[in-house]
Amino acid sequence: MYVSPHMTGQSVDFDVQGLIAEEVRQWIIKNQNLLPYPIRLEADVNWVHLDTRDADNGKVYLFNP
Ligand SMILES: [Zn+2]
Repeated sequence: MYVSPHMTGQSVDFDVQGLIAEEVRQWIIKNQNLLPYPIRLEADVNWVHLDTRDADNGKVYLFNP
């Protein structure tokens, strides 16, 4: 059974004022060396979904909804 990482407190959805979600994702990917832990981003959605699940897929892992 799939349990959303939101349910376990492992993720956050947010927007950045003045940027579209894709610009925020690209910024995070470009600056991934600043991240203390590997993260996962949801691709192709109009908001930024960031979570810490499946952290063994590289520093920033883009997954499809
Ligand atoms: Zn989310």
